[in-house]
Amino acid sequence: MPKSRTYPSSRLDQLRALAEKVDGLPLSAGPHLLAKSLAEAGDVPGGVALLRCYSTDHPDDFPSHYELGRMLERLKPPQTDEAIVAYAVARALRPATGHELAHALARRGRDEEAAAVFRGLVGPSHPSFDIRDAACYGVFLKERSRLDEAGTASHALIVAAHRIIRDAPADTAGARQRSQALAYLKAELAGWSRILDSGRPTARGHVRRAMEGWKISERLGYSPFEERLLAQLPEAERGAWRALRNEAESLLDSARNGDH
Ligand SMILES: [Zn+2]
Repeated sequence: MPKSRTYPSSRLDQLRALAEKVDGLPLSAGPHLLAKSLAEAGDVPGGVALLRCYSTDHPDDFPSHYELGRMLERLKPPQTDEAIVAYAVARALRPATGHELAHALARRGRDEEAAAVFRGLVGPSHPSFDIRDAACYGVFLKERSRLDEAGTASHALIVAAHRIIRDAPADTAGARQRSQALAYLKAELAGWSRILDSGRPTARGHVRRAMEGWKISERLGYSPFEERLLAQLPEAERGAWRALRNEAESLLDSARNGDH
């Protein structure tokens, strides 16, 4: 536990003492924060023990279930099956928080359940518009050659990116959100490009449909590449988005014309 070496031992003792008393603390004291402090101090098992107790006694406390899941995955070795249970409880309490649950299920090879959770996050009933959901769902699907569904995830990614370009404030935090969205779209495009390069018989049709989806979104007004939105961005950012739009168009051309 290398981190504990740089962490003041008196602080760690205080936290441990607090952790022992946690059952007497009000919910507002945030046991999940206490557990995180323990973990940051190098004592992940201590954080896990604390949250196991607390979450059992407080079944409605979302943060303790969610953080328990995170910490169980940080244990060596990770306790993924137990983390899945903790994440599932957290998701039952807050349906938009299934992202880590989906990843944990996928890590255990429970692909159908992982896909269902991801689908729920980006689908019409729970459109979280958290761009991570559509991005990671797309990676998950492409890695498993589930390319029809990957086209749908790509669509959700475009919608989420559109919302970021439209709504992110013009400050540093907004710039960070836009740059994250740009990175996700670049990775998405690179993923489709690799699929086209794979030469699989059905690849071309899938890539064409996915990239046509990107173009259609421009016509229908939910694309991140719309000029009226890009025109409001700082010069340097605008160029990067236009360059990406051009790359998407040339990938579509390649998929249509067979020169890839
Ligand atoms: Zn993810």
